[in-house]
Amino acid sequence: MQRRISSVWAVVLACALALSAALFVPAYSALADDLRDKIQTEQQRAQAAKEAVEKARSQVEGVDAKLGQLYVAQAQVAAQIPQAQEALLQAESKLAQSQRKLQVVQARLETAQTRLEQLNTQLDKGRDEVNKSERSLGELVRQTYRGERSSTAMELVLAGKGTAALSDLSIAAETVTRLESKSLIEVQNQLALDKSRSARQEALTRSVDDLRAEAEGVLAEAEVARHQKTAKLNSLEELRKKNDSLLANLNAKKAEFEEAEKVSQRHLAEAQDRIKKFDEQLRKQQEAERLAARKRNQSYKGDQGVSTGRVGGTSVWGAPIGGRMYVTSPWGWRIHPVTGSRRLHAGVDLSSPTGEKQYATRDGVVVESYYDYGCGNMVTISHGIFAGHRWLSRHCHLSARFVSTGQRVHRGQVIGLTGSTGRVTGPHVHFEIIRDGVSVNPWSYINN
Ligand SMILES: [Zn+2]
Repeated sequence: MQRRISSVWAVVLACALALSAALFVPAYSALADDLRDKIQTEQQRAQAAKEAVEKARSQVEGVDAKLGQLYVAQAQVAAQIPQAQEALLQAESKLAQSQRKLQVVQARLETAQTRLEQLNTQLDKGRDEVNKSERSLGELVRQTYRGERSSTAMELVLAGKGTAALSDLSIAAETVTRLESKSLIEVQNQLALDKSRSARQEALTRSVDDLRAEAEGVLAEAEVARHQKTAKLNSLEELRKKNDSLLANLNAKKAEFEEAEKVSQRHLAEAQDRIKKFDEQLRKQQEAERLAARKRNQSYKGDQGVSTGRVGGTSVWGAPIGGRMYVTSPWGWRIHPVTGSRRLHAGVDLSSPTGEKQYATRDGVVVESYYDYGCGNMVTISHGIFAGHRWLSRHCHLSARFVSTGQRVHRGQVIGLTGSTGRVTGPHVHFEIIRDGVSVNPWSYINN
């Protein structure tokens, strides 16, 4: 009974152990897978954030370039404004001067015209007088000779000489004529004088009128000049205003892009922090799984991994890491989101935490083992010629390299540890296969 019970217990225990082992392993792997999924998601987020940062940065740079040009243009405009203001002031002063000069000439012209009119009136009056005198004298002489009007006019002349004899009349007429002629000559002299004065005045008036025409011409020119200078200054001030508003717009845009850059940088840092955290968890999880595997005395053979699945095995190519492989970024051509240029992603990216072991995928000789700016810690292995081609494989971003150039390596040998050296957003495997010097998609070779 005792034996029977104990044998029953042994069976139960064995079943329980088998069950727990069956549950235990997948539970661990599920945790690791979950962490890998999380890491992959975070890496995608980090990549998106990094692209957003680059985009915002290039936008900021674009705006900066425009701002620079605009500041230069605005400085040139601003420098021209004082000159334009000075030119306008000068034009206005010249215009005022021309206006004053025209007023003076105008006044002179009016005076000269008034004087000319006076002289002409005087001249007309003199002419009338001469005409009148000539007419009346002629009339008097005619009347006297015809015997008409023997008294009246004669009486006036001969007053005080008593009754005139007919014979005296001709003498009297002669006297009258002489007297009248004398006054007529005076009037004629005066007329000649007036004529000469009027002619001089007319010449003077004409020359003043010429001066006025000239002053009007100068004034018109000054007005055109003032108009031009005003237009120039106005256009400069408008340009300055327009540039000011453009500058304000660009500065606002720049601030917007800078803010976007900051936000994306924060997102990137947050994603990287989470990757680091999940990486650490995954590393611990894998460590725990290895320990559990050792304890269960399963087929885990340590770091060489010579017989663990795809790392060792008999396929043409082994895998660069142990366990399941998750592609986070495939091999191939892609368009840069900002520059629009095409570039080749020459390797396949696999989810892998910092410190995970990476293995040589075939026997070969290390031909490169150094730090590269883009690839970070890099190991390149020459696998020689087989299947009619010359083959190389390359591992990038390693946190540690365990092999050096010239060293012979075996398939499944640890050549380094996963890391995030070089240009990366987080730790991962970047693995390349180069056939006859040309990058080929490594996924089809290692995924078997
Ligand atoms: Zn890569």
